[in-house]
Amino acid sequence: MKEGIIVKGIGGFYYIKCGDNVYECRARGIFRKKNIKPLVGDYVKFTLNNENSGVIEEILDRKSELLRPPVANVEHAIIVFAAKNPEPNMILLDKMLVLGEVAGLKLTICINKIDLDENGEIIKKIQSIYKNTGYNIIFSSTKNDLGIDDIKNVLKNKITVFAGPSGVGKSSILNAVQSNLKLKTGDISRKIKRGKHTTRHTELLELDFGGWVVDTPGFTSLNIDFIESEKIAECFPEFRKYLDECKFTDCMHINEPDCKVKEALDNGFISKQRYENYVSFVKQILENNRR
Ligand code: GDP
Ligand code: ZN
Repeated sequence: MKEGIIVKGIGGFYYIKCGDNVYECRARGIFRKKNIKPLVGDYVKFTLNNENSGVIEEILDRKSELLRPPVANVEHAIIVFAAKNPEPNMILLDKMLVLGEVAGLKLTICINKIDLDENGEIIKKIQSIYKNTGYNIIFSSTKNDLGIDDIKNVLKNKITVFAGPSGVGKSSILNAVQSNLKLKTGDISRKIKRGKHTTRHTELLELDFGGWVVDTPGFTSLNIDFIESEKIAECFPEFRKYLDECKFTDCMHINEPDCKVKEALDNGFISKQRYENYVSFVKQILENNRR
Protein backbone atom coordinates (compact mmCIF):
# COMPACT_ATOMS: atom_id res chain seq x y z
CA MET A 1 0.00 0.00 0.00
CA LYS A 2 1.09 3.54 -0.73
CA GLU A 3 0.95 6.47 1.65
CA GLY A 4 0.43 10.12 0.80
CA ILE A 5 -1.33 13.37 1.63
CA ILE A 6 -4.57 14.64 0.10
CA VAL A 7 -3.81 17.96 -1.58
CA LYS A 8 -7.17 18.54 -3.24
CA GLY A 9 -10.66 17.07 -3.36
CA ILE A 10 -13.21 17.67 -6.11
CA GLY A 11 -16.51 15.89 -6.67
CA GLY A 12 -15.62 12.68 -4.85
CA PHE A 13 -12.09 12.51 -6.26
CA TYR A 14 -9.11 13.00 -4.01
CA TYR A 15 -5.70 14.01 -5.31
CA ILE A 16 -2.94 12.39 -3.32
CA LYS A 17 0.64 13.54 -3.41
CA CYS A 18 3.06 10.66 -2.93
CA GLY A 19 6.69 11.14 -3.79
CA ASP A 20 6.77 13.15 -6.99
CA ASN A 21 3.41 11.87 -8.21
CA VAL A 22 -0.20 12.88 -7.73
CA TYR A 23 -2.78 10.07 -7.84
CA GLU A 24 -6.49 10.48 -8.43
CA CYS A 25 -8.33 8.36 -5.88
CA ARG A 26 -11.83 7.55 -4.74
CA ALA A 27 -12.63 6.72 -1.13
CA ARG A 28 -13.70 3.21 -0.16
CA GLY A 29 -17.46 2.91 0.40
CA ILE A 30 -16.82 2.00 4.01
CA PHE A 31 -15.96 5.64 4.76
CA ARG A 32 -19.38 6.77 3.55
CA LYS A 33 -21.08 4.12 5.65
CA LYS A 34 -19.18 5.28 8.71
CA ASN A 35 -19.92 8.88 7.74
CA ILE A 36 -16.25 9.74 7.49
CA LYS A 37 -15.15 12.10 4.74
CA PRO A 38 -11.52 12.34 3.74
CA LEU A 39 -10.27 15.92 4.06
CA VAL A 40 -7.58 17.88 2.32
CA GLY A 41 -4.55 17.51 4.60
CA ASP A 42 -5.35 13.94 5.56
CA TYR A 43 -2.52 11.44 5.46
CA VAL A 44 -3.92 8.32 3.83
CA LYS A 45 -3.03 4.80 2.73
CA PHE A 46 -4.18 3.90 -0.76
CA THR A 47 -3.94 1.16 -3.37
CA LEU A 48 -3.59 1.68 -7.11
CA ASN A 49 -6.03 0.47 -9.79
CA ASN A 50 -3.67 1.53 -12.52
CA GLU A 51 -0.71 3.81 -12.98
CA ASN A 52 -2.52 7.03 -12.07
CA SER A 53 -5.56 6.24 -10.00
CA GLY A 54 -6.58 4.25 -6.98
CA VAL A 55 -8.64 3.88 -3.84
CA ILE A 56 -8.17 5.34 -0.37
CA GLU A 57 -8.10 2.45 2.11
CA GLU A 58 -7.30 4.18 5.38
CA ILE A 59 -7.19 7.67 6.85
CA LEU A 60 -4.39 8.08 9.38
CA ASP A 61 -5.16 9.76 12.71
CA ARG A 62 -5.87 13.48 12.39
CA LYS A 63 -3.85 15.84 14.54
CA SER A 64 -6.40 18.60 14.03
CA GLU A 65 -9.43 19.49 11.99
CA LEU A 66 -10.16 22.99 10.78
CA LEU A 67 -13.69 23.89 9.71
CA ARG A 68 -13.05 26.96 7.59
CA PRO A 69 -11.39 26.08 5.35
CA PRO A 70 -12.02 22.34 5.86
CA VAL A 71 -8.48 21.01 6.22
CA ALA A 72 -7.03 18.29 8.44
CA ASN A 73 -3.70 18.41 10.25
CA VAL A 74 -3.19 22.18 10.08
CA GLU A 75 -0.65 22.98 12.78
CA HIS A 76 0.11 26.61 12.30
CA ALA A 77 -1.48 29.89 11.30
CA ILE A 78 0.29 33.04 10.19
CA ILE A 79 -1.93 36.00 10.92
CA VAL A 80 -0.98 38.82 8.59
CA PHE A 81 -1.75 42.49 9.03
CA ALA A 82 -0.17 45.51 7.37
CA ALA A 83 1.73 48.22 9.22
CA LYS A 84 -0.24 50.67 7.08
CA ASN A 85 -2.49 50.67 4.05
CA PRO A 86 -4.73 49.23 5.42
CA GLU A 87 -4.20 50.38 9.04
CA PRO A 88 -4.03 47.36 11.36
CA ASN A 89 -7.32 46.61 13.08
CA MET A 90 -6.12 45.40 16.47
CA ILE A 91 -9.52 44.07 17.56
CA LEU A 92 -9.59 41.89 14.45
CA LEU A 93 -6.03 40.73 15.10
CA ASP A 94 -6.89 39.67 18.66
CA LYS A 95 -10.06 37.98 17.44
CA MET A 96 -8.08 35.92 14.93
CA LEU A 97 -5.60 35.01 17.65
CA VAL A 98 -8.48 33.79 19.83
CA LEU A 99 -9.86 31.69 16.97
CA GLY A 100 -6.39 30.25 16.36
CA GLU A 101 -6.02 29.39 20.06
CA VAL A 102 -9.40 27.67 20.09
CA ALA A 103 -8.38 25.66 17.02
CA GLY A 104 -5.20 24.61 18.86
CA LEU A 105 -2.84 26.11 16.28
CA LYS A 106 0.66 27.42 16.71
CA LEU A 107 0.40 31.12 15.91
CA THR A 108 2.70 33.59 14.23
CA ILE A 109 1.86 37.27 13.88
CA CYS A 110 3.19 38.87 10.71
CA ILE A 111 3.15 42.64 10.29
CA ASN A 112 3.79 43.25 6.61
CA LYS A 113 4.45 46.48 4.64
CA ILE A 114 6.94 47.43 7.32
CA ASP A 115 8.60 49.64 4.66
CA LEU A 116 5.68 52.03 5.26
CA ASP A 117 6.52 52.33 8.99
CA GLU A 118 9.07 55.07 8.39
CA ASN A 119 9.86 56.03 11.99
CA GLY A 120 9.48 52.52 13.40
CA GLU A 121 6.51 53.57 15.54
CA ILE A 122 4.29 50.67 14.54
CA ILE A 123 6.99 48.08 15.26
CA LYS A 124 7.48 49.58 18.72
CA LYS A 125 3.76 49.66 19.43
CA ILE A 126 3.12 46.06 18.35
CA GLN A 127 6.16 44.80 20.25
CA SER A 128 4.99 46.47 23.43
CA ILE A 129 1.41 45.17 23.18
CA TYR A 130 2.42 41.54 22.51
CA LYS A 131 5.68 41.34 24.49
CA ASN A 132 4.33 38.98 27.16
CA THR A 133 2.17 36.84 24.88
CA GLY A 134 5.04 34.66 23.68
CA TYR A 135 3.81 34.95 20.10
CA ASN A 136 6.43 34.94 17.42
CA ILE A 137 6.14 38.28 15.60
CA ILE A 138 7.65 38.74 12.15
CA PHE A 139 7.93 42.19 10.62
CA SER A 140 8.11 41.86 6.88
CA SER A 141 8.23 43.76 3.64
CA THR A 142 7.87 42.12 0.27
CA LYS A 143 9.01 45.42 -1.24
CA ASN A 144 12.31 45.50 0.67
CA ASP A 145 12.73 41.74 1.14
CA LEU A 146 12.54 41.93 4.92
CA GLY A 147 11.44 39.05 7.13
CA ILE A 148 10.89 36.64 4.24
CA ASP A 149 13.54 34.21 5.51
CA ASP A 150 11.90 34.25 8.93
CA ILE A 151 8.59 33.37 7.30
CA LYS A 152 10.24 30.51 5.39
CA ASN A 153 11.62 29.19 8.66
CA VAL A 154 8.26 29.03 10.39
CA LEU A 155 6.62 27.42 7.34
CA LYS A 156 9.01 24.48 7.24
CA ASN A 157 7.66 20.92 7.51
CA LYS A 158 4.10 21.65 8.58
CA ILE A 159 0.74 22.66 7.20
CA THR A 160 0.11 26.38 7.58
CA VAL A 161 -2.94 28.49 6.96
CA PHE A 162 -2.61 32.21 6.27
CA ALA A 163 -5.19 34.55 7.73
CA GLY A 164 -5.71 38.28 7.62
CA PRO A 165 -7.78 40.91 5.86
CA SER A 166 -7.46 41.32 2.12
CA GLY A 167 -4.91 43.80 0.87
CA VAL A 168 -2.34 43.20 3.64
CA GLY A 169 -0.03 41.27 1.31
CA LYS A 170 -0.75 37.58 1.92
CA SER A 171 -0.32 36.57 -1.71
CA SER A 172 2.69 38.84 -2.15
CA ILE A 173 4.35 37.11 0.83
CA LEU A 174 3.66 33.68 -0.63
CA ASN A 175 5.11 34.76 -3.95
CA ALA A 176 8.19 36.10 -2.17
CA VAL A 177 8.57 32.79 -0.31
CA GLN A 178 8.35 30.77 -3.50
CA SER A 179 7.80 32.25 -6.94
CA ASN A 180 5.70 29.39 -8.33
CA LEU A 181 3.25 29.51 -5.44
CA LYS A 182 0.19 31.66 -5.43
CA LEU A 183 -2.20 32.25 -2.61
CA LYS A 184 -5.45 33.28 -4.17
CA THR A 185 -6.17 36.90 -3.44
CA GLY A 186 -9.24 38.20 -1.75
CA ASP A 187 -11.15 35.94 0.54
CA ILE A 188 -12.68 33.81 -2.17
CA SER A 189 -11.02 30.62 -3.26
CA ARG A 190 -10.94 29.61 -6.87
CA LYS A 191 -14.35 28.92 -8.26
CA ILE A 192 -15.04 26.05 -10.56
CA LYS A 193 -18.21 26.07 -12.58
CA ARG A 194 -20.12 22.81 -12.46
CA GLY A 195 -23.51 23.18 -14.09
CA LYS A 196 -25.41 25.85 -12.24
CA HIS A 197 -23.46 25.37 -9.06
CA THR A 198 -20.28 27.11 -8.10
CA THR A 199 -18.14 25.10 -5.76
CA ARG A 200 -15.41 26.37 -3.51
CA HIS A 201 -12.58 24.03 -2.88
CA THR A 202 -9.38 24.17 -0.99
CA GLU A 203 -5.96 23.04 -2.04
CA LEU A 204 -2.60 22.49 -0.38
CA LEU A 205 0.37 24.15 -2.05
CA GLU A 206 3.70 22.41 -1.60
CA LEU A 207 6.76 24.34 -0.49
CA ASP A 208 9.96 23.21 -2.15
CA PHE A 209 11.87 23.49 1.16
CA GLY A 210 9.31 21.26 2.92
CA GLY A 211 5.84 22.08 4.19
CA TRP A 212 2.41 22.99 2.90
CA VAL A 213 0.32 26.12 2.66
CA VAL A 214 -3.47 26.16 2.48
CA ASP A 215 -4.49 28.21 -0.55
CA THR A 216 -7.64 29.60 1.09
CA PRO A 217 -7.35 32.17 3.89
CA GLY A 218 -8.27 30.92 7.36
CA PHE A 219 -10.69 32.41 9.91
CA THR A 220 -12.91 33.88 7.24
CA SER A 221 -15.74 33.72 9.73
CA LEU A 222 -14.90 35.94 12.64
CA ASN A 223 -17.74 34.70 14.76
CA ILE A 224 -16.54 33.95 18.30
CA ASP A 225 -19.97 33.42 19.85
CA PHE A 226 -19.56 29.63 19.87
CA ILE A 227 -16.75 29.98 22.42
CA GLU A 228 -17.79 29.84 26.09
CA SER A 229 -17.15 33.21 27.69
CA GLU A 230 -15.23 31.52 30.55
CA LYS A 231 -12.79 30.08 28.01
CA ILE A 232 -11.76 33.39 26.45
CA ALA A 233 -9.17 34.25 29.12
CA GLU A 234 -7.28 31.03 28.30
CA CYS A 235 -7.00 32.24 24.71
CA PHE A 236 -4.85 35.14 25.91
CA PRO A 237 -1.53 33.40 26.65
CA GLU A 238 -0.19 36.23 28.82
CA PHE A 239 -3.23 35.84 31.14
CA ARG A 240 -2.75 32.13 31.72
CA LYS A 241 -0.34 32.09 34.61
CA TYR A 242 -2.67 34.33 36.66
CA LEU A 243 -5.91 32.47 36.04
CA ASP A 244 -5.59 30.00 38.93
CA GLU A 245 -4.51 32.72 41.34
CA CYS A 246 -7.67 34.82 41.40
CA LYS A 247 -9.71 34.76 44.63
CA PHE A 248 -12.79 33.37 42.88
CA THR A 249 -12.38 30.23 40.79
CA ASP A 250 -15.06 31.49 38.40
CA CYS A 251 -13.47 34.95 38.17
CA MET A 252 -14.16 36.60 34.82
CA HIS A 253 -11.42 39.16 35.55
CA ILE A 254 -13.73 42.08 35.02
CA ASN A 255 -15.39 43.29 38.23
CA GLU A 256 -14.26 40.76 40.82
CA PRO A 257 -12.10 41.73 43.83
CA ASP A 258 -8.66 40.20 44.31
CA CYS A 259 -8.25 39.45 40.62
CA LYS A 260 -4.69 38.62 39.62
CA VAL A 261 -5.33 39.40 35.96
CA LYS A 262 -6.35 42.94 36.85
CA GLU A 263 -3.35 43.18 39.13
CA ALA A 264 -1.09 42.15 36.25
CA LEU A 265 -2.82 44.78 34.13
CA ASP A 266 -2.14 47.47 36.75
CA ASN A 267 1.49 46.36 36.97
CA GLY A 268 1.93 46.54 33.20
CA PHE A 269 2.42 42.80 32.60
CA ILE A 270 -0.76 42.68 30.55
CA SER A 271 -1.29 45.39 27.96
CA LYS A 272 -4.27 47.68 28.37
CA GLN A 273 -5.32 47.14 24.78
CA ARG A 274 -5.25 43.34 25.02
CA TYR A 275 -7.23 43.50 28.25
CA GLU A 276 -9.83 45.83 26.72
CA ASN A 277 -10.25 43.50 23.76
CA TYR A 278 -10.62 40.58 26.16
CA VAL A 279 -13.43 42.38 28.00
CA SER A 280 -15.16 43.33 24.77
CA PHE A 281 -15.06 39.72 23.52
CA VAL A 282 -16.53 38.38 26.77
CA LYS A 283 -19.29 41.00 26.71
CA GLN A 284 -20.04 40.33 23.07
CA ILE A 285 -20.36 36.58 23.65
CA LEU A 286 -22.58 37.03 26.72
CA GLU A 287 -24.80 39.51 24.92
CA ASN A 288 -25.19 37.51 21.72
CA ASN A 289 -25.91 34.28 23.57
CA ARG A 290 -28.57 35.97 25.69
CA ARG A 291 -30.62 36.75 22.55
P1 GDP B 1 -3.69 40.02 -0.06
O1 GDP B 1 -5.07 40.47 -0.42
O2 GDP B 1 -3.52 39.95 1.43
O3 GDP B 1 -3.28 38.76 -0.73
O4 GDP B 1 -2.68 41.20 -0.53
P2 GDP B 1 -1.81 41.28 -1.87
O5 GDP B 1 -0.63 40.38 -1.82
O6 GDP B 1 -2.72 41.17 -3.04
O7 GDP B 1 -1.25 42.77 -1.74
C1 GDP B 1 -2.10 43.91 -1.71
C2 GDP B 1 -1.32 45.15 -2.15
O8 GDP B 1 -0.28 45.44 -1.22
C3 GDP B 1 -0.63 44.98 -3.49
O9 GDP B 1 -0.77 46.19 -4.22
C4 GDP B 1 0.83 44.73 -3.14
O10 GDP B 1 1.72 45.19 -4.14
C5 GDP B 1 0.98 45.57 -1.86
N1 GDP B 1 2.05 45.03 -0.98
C6 GDP B 1 2.26 43.74 -0.65
N2 GDP B 1 3.32 43.63 0.19
C7 GDP B 1 3.77 44.88 0.40
C8 GDP B 1 4.88 45.43 1.19
O11 GDP B 1 5.63 44.73 1.86
N3 GDP B 1 5.01 46.79 1.18
C9 GDP B 1 4.19 47.60 0.45
N4 GDP B 1 4.41 48.90 0.50
N5 GDP B 1 3.17 47.12 -0.31
C10 GDP B 1 2.97 45.78 -0.34
ZN1 ZN C 1 -9.55 37.27 37.87
